[in-house]
Amino acid sequence: MSRTVYLNGVYMPEEEATVSVFDRGFLFADAVYEVTAVLDGKLVDYAGHAARLTRSLGELKLAKPFTDEELLAIHRELITRNNLEQGGIYLQISRGSEGDRDFVFPKHAAPTVFLFTQAKTLTDPKKGMRVISVPDIRWGRRDIKTVQLLAPSMAKMAAKAEGKDDAWLVEDGYVTEGSSNNAYIVTKDDKIVTRNLSNSILHGITRAAVLKLAAERNMEIEERAFTIEEAQQAKEAFITSATVFVCPVVEIDGVAIAGGEPGPVATRLNDLYIEEGRKAAI
Ligand code: PMP
Repeated sequence: MSRTVYLNGVYMPEEEATVSVFDRGFLFADAVYEVTAVLDGKLVDYAGHAARLTRSLGELKLAKPFTDEELLAIHRELITRNNLEQGGIYLQISRGSEGDRDFVFPKHAAPTVFLFTQAKTLTDPKKGMRVISVPDIRWGRRDIKTVQLLAPSMAKMAAKAEGKDDAWLVEDGYVTEGSSNNAYIVTKDDKIVTRNLSNSILHGITRAAVLKLAAERNMEIEERAFTIEEAQQAKEAFITSATVFVCPVVEIDGVAIAGGEPGPVATRLNDLYIEEGRKAAI
C-alpha cells in the first residue's frame, strides 16, 4: 500500500513526491536528517530529536523552515494519515537548489523538506547482534546528523559480507560508535562504559535517555573511549539507537560476549527504555 509522505508543505502519495536533480542533498549530501520512533501511534523522545535537528541545521547554516509547533504537527499528521502504530518517522532537510551545481551555497534556494513513515516492529525481544570492527573513515563532524552515510553503509556491508549484523567503527585504536548507533560495554565491575560526547560521534538521543535511566537507578556510568580488546573482555556489550532502542551485542570480531547471549543489563535497559519511552511519548 502506498504511503502518504510530506514534501515541501504538501501531503501526497509517495509515487508523486519528486525533487530536483539539482537538489544539493542529491549532489553534495548537503542535508540533515532525524529519525523518531513511534510507539502506540505516539512519538518517542521527540523533544530530543527536534532539538538535535535545530542544532544540526545551525551548524550547517541552514535556515529552519518551520516552527517547532509546525514540525510536530507534520509528524502527527503523517502518523494519522498512515495509521502508524509502531515504527519511525524519517525527516530530511536539504539546502535545495538554484537549478545548477555550485560548491558555493545558493543564496535564494528554498530548502527541501521531506518526511515519511516506516512501519516496523520495535518491541520484539532481542536475540543480540554480532559485530565486526572496521576503520572509521567518516568526516570529522559526526556530531552533525548529515545524510553522508556512505561510509557507515559500507561498514554495514562489510559486516554483512562476513555474515554478521553490523560494524563498530574504530579510530586511533578506540571504538567511536556503531555504523548507525552508539556503542557500550559493561565492565567486570558493572560499570556502563560509552564514548564521551565530542565531534567524533553522533550525540544519540537514545544514548542520553538510556544513560539518564541508568543513572536514576544508581548504575555506574563512565563516559570514555574503549578498545575492541576491552570490549571482547567485557561482561556485556550493547548498542542504542532511536529505532532499535537497546540491543545486546553478543559477538565482536568472532569473540563471544556474555557467553553469546543477551546480557541482563542490556535487556533491562531495553525494557526500561520502552516502558518509560511509552509513558512519555507524545
Ligand atoms: N550514531 C550514529 C552514527 C547514528 O547514525 C545513530 C542513529 N541515527 C546513532 C548514533 C543513535 O542516535 P539516536 O539514538 O539519536 O538514534
